[in-house]
Amino acid sequence: MINEYVARQVALKDTQPCIICSKPSTTVLYNGSGPDWFYSCNIHLVDNPQFVVPMYTQEYYSSLEELKRLKQESNSLTQEDLSSWDGWVTKIFNKKPKEDSKEKEKEKEQEKVKEKESTESVVDRSSELKNEYRKALDRLSELQKKNKKYKLSQIMFESRTQLKQKQAAIAELKRKEAESYTNTEPDELLNKYSFPDIPNSTK
Ligand SMILES: [Zn+2]
Repeated sequence: MINEYVARQVALKDTQPCIICSKPSTTVLYNGSGPDWFYSCNIHLVDNPQFVVPMYTQEYYSSLEELKRLKQESNSLTQEDLSSWDGWVTKIFNKKPKEDSKEKEKEKEQEKVKEKESTESVVDRSSELKNEYRKALDRLSELQKKNKKYKLSQIMFESRTQLKQKQAAIAELKRKEAESYTNTEPDELLNKYSFPDIPNSTK
């Protein structure tokens, strides 16, 4: 049995108790390779790694990477933004009076224009990033909601596997029993199974 379960919704009439809290549930976790299945409330499937972990698609993980990249870019932009602002402030404080030749005046003007332009482009990119970030976040939560595949936690999967083995052993025993009874005469059965005598008590 492989550890891969798909969450399925069943009709209200097929409601059964949840494996965790025993409340009636219409969600079944089904494993075709067992086959194995059990009922669970949807709430236990969220942020509950000791029970299940979602198995997201490749698309989900690329979206997550994209989101991280946008966040990083946005962080570095904010820092740039701050340091350029800081530069402005420093310049205001360091302003030396009575030094203004025509040349200097011109240089200063150009510098101001440059700074304004770069600040504007930072602000533009920053709002663009915010937009992209919001979109990527929406896409990610959409993919998260769409996910139906789950992997059981180690301990949970082991208990399911053991239960399956136990059930299989019991079924096999019953099958053999039924086979013996249908194919064998009662007298033969008695000979076939020689039950050991109960040991005599020595006292
Ligand atoms: Zn429950």
